[in-house]
Amino acid sequence: MKKLDQSQRYLFDDHPIRGQYVSLDQSWQEIAQQGELQGRGLSLLGEALVVVSLLVDTLKIDGSITLQIRGKGPLELLVVEASSEHKIRGTARQSGDIDDEMDLQQVFGSEYLVITIKTDGAEPHQGIAPLSGVKLSDALEHYFATSEQLPTRFWLACDEKNASGMLIQKLPGKLKDDDAWDRVLHLASTVTDEELQRIPLGDLLHRLFNEETLRLFDPSSIKFSCSCSRERTAGMLLSLGKAEADQILEDEGEISVNCEFCNSNYSFDQIDIEQIFGEGGITSPSTTTH
Ligand SMILES: [Zn+2]
Repeated sequence: MKKLDQSQRYLFDDHPIRGQYVSLDQSWQEIAQQGELQGRGLSLLGEALVVVSLLVDTLKIDGSITLQIRGKGPLELLVVEASSEHKIRGTARQSGDIDDEMDLQQVFGSEYLVITIKTDGAEPHQGIAPLSGVKLSDALEHYFATSEQLPTRFWLACDEKNASGMLIQKLPGKLKDDDAWDRVLHLASTVTDEELQRIPLGDLLHRLFNEETLRLFDPSSIKFSCSCSRERTAGMLLSLGKAEADQILEDEGEISVNCEFCNSNYSFDQIDIEQIFGEGGITSPSTTTH
């Protein structure tokens, strides 16, 4: 049986090459059903979630990775996030039809994707990569090839039930034979979407690399989880300013904030707003000193 909602690492014993595999099942279905995406819009969201899930484990980050694309194309927004605790969330906004012939720049109406790495206790690091190619893996591979990072290749597949992918990365160090990297890539490229999505990882690796010795590490479980909360939303209102908040209250009667990632709704009335902007703020109203 294939393990669902998992991330798993593997190593080639004889070469400095490592791999990571991700299968999103329930977690992907929960995210997919929130929006009104279809066709390539849906696939791109699923594949982007797989990419950040692959990267957060490959780069061994304590924190999170976000991938974001914003533009004026039919898929005008895509933002996905994976944390080192294996929680994922993501959303995309589609405003028009996406033709099969469109390249990524046409789909998004943007020339760039932005990858943000947040490590606990450090400033976020932002990388910008051109949206080159037709597939998300094209753009990612271009990014890795041109940013002095380790050579890395991606295979991604997505439908309504499952989003899966694998990554293969060449580590520093000498290959046992010069052809090893090309050979591994060639074998990996024979994988079909069906195999990537449906076959247990052990069987898949055996099918692709049966001549090689591989070490498979323990899998981690991935789940959909949103980090939004009433407190965080209140904090957002606080940064908006009292005048602005009062204006919305006057116009709308209440302030209603919808989380794009999980559809949770947080509403605030006049009393809530007075409390938020009151002395000491919402976090510590009783510890204010005069
Ligand atoms: Zn949320």
